[in-house]
Amino acid sequence: MAKKKKTTVKMQCKECKEINYFTNKTKQVEGKLEASKHCSRCRKHTTHKEAKK
Ligand SMILES: [Zn+2]
Repeated sequence: MAKKKKTTVKMQCKECKEINYFTNKTKQVEGKLEASKHCSRCRKHTTHKEAKK
């Protein structure tokens, strides 16, 4: 079975630092990923940033 190289990145809430989402980086992206997602802890949409490993 051939292994595909995938980079899983954690999306961390900027406000409470909770990791709420995982996403796959299929190719190298310049800079850090940022997305507005719903945080269950903040109970609102917050900016989620790519967390360091
Ligand atoms: Zn949060």
